[in-house]
Amino acid sequence: MTFLRQDTRPVKVGNLTIGGSNEVIIQSMCTTKTADVAATVAEILRLEEAGCQLVRVTVNNEEAAAAIKDIKKQIHIPLVADIHFNYKLALKAIENGIDKVRINPGNIGRREKVEAVVNACKERGIPIRIGVNAGSLEQHLLDKYGYPTPEAMVESALYHIGILEELDFHDIIVSLKASDVPMAIEAYTKAAEVIPYPLHLGITEAGTLFAGTVKSAAGLGALLSRGIGSTMRISLSADPVEEVKVARELLKAFGLIANAPTLVSCPTCGRLDIDLFSIANEVEEYLSKLKVPLKVSVLGCAVNGPGEAREADIGIAGARGEGLLFRYGEMVRKVPEADLVSELKKEIDHIVEVYEAT
Ligand code: SF4
Repeated sequence: MTFLRQDTRPVKVGNLTIGGSNEVIIQSMCTTKTADVAATVAEILRLEEAGCQLVRVTVNNEEAAAAIKDIKKQIHIPLVADIHFNYKLALKAIENGIDKVRINPGNIGRREKVEAVVNACKERGIPIRIGVNAGSLEQHLLDKYGYPTPEAMVESALYHIGILEELDFHDIIVSLKASDVPMAIEAYTKAAEVIPYPLHLGITEAGTLFAGTVKSAAGLGALLSRGIGSTMRISLSADPVEEVKVARELLKAFGLIANAPTLVSCPTCGRLDIDLFSIANEVEEYLSKLKVPLKVSVLGCAVNGPGEAREADIGIAGARGEGLLFRYGEMVRKVPEADLVSELKKEIDHIVEVYEAT
């Protein structure tokens, strides 16, 4: 089963294309002070390693805008500037080589200021993300609707889009974030019907690692299952690397990521005779660094183990003090429990080598 993306206008961001039936791009946001170039670059490099494809930094002052030039030289993925209201910071970020700007044109102020930003973006082929947030809707919409609603959010997006389109600018990406999951689902669903631009998915202020992961998976999962969304950010009160891990896992669940390994592991039960939780966690950690479409199964016993292992590239089924090792569905040997993880890693390395050589 495949989940086809909505056929949106493709928008270029650095060397990426967002939308237009391309893959769903994973993004995150730095937690560092942008002006602290060393800390920001270090965080971005960790995000890159985890599989982040696009990263946003706040540009809330002159120093942050100035730091973009140095940050750009030391990273390998496109960089997005998050700007609120201040068009001069947007111009500075663009001048310093930013790849995308997140700014709401309706909040910039006088038309000349909006035009200045739009012209600078046009000159350099930089897209603009309009970020609608249920918590900061324009007053005229709150007056009209009384409180934030999905309809008000879509109307807000259309208002900002209208300003850009009037200036003949179409390299637009749109987000409609809410921390309320049903509201976000409805806003994005309605937006997908009327907005031809790529949608950036997110449940804003989703919460801590555990609760935020569940909320984000519920909201974004519903949207991805309907083919909605061209890029996504999981917002967690946690290390942003965790956001990327969650995003990759979510895309894996829908078969929307080509270069990620999958781990199948059982919940265990009274039949278990090995320390499966430790083995599964260790293998998961090992797999998290790989960018290969590999399926590994780690099952507690011979009830379901061989069946699952047959569907996987490599797998084990536990037994008393040992495990049966399967490769492409064939049982290859018995391995003592103490060596199971190291033997699995060797087999995984071998598959990765073969994959990379072909
Ligand atoms: Fe229990 Fe075996 Fe199933 Fe794991 S694979 S849950 S140990 S029956």
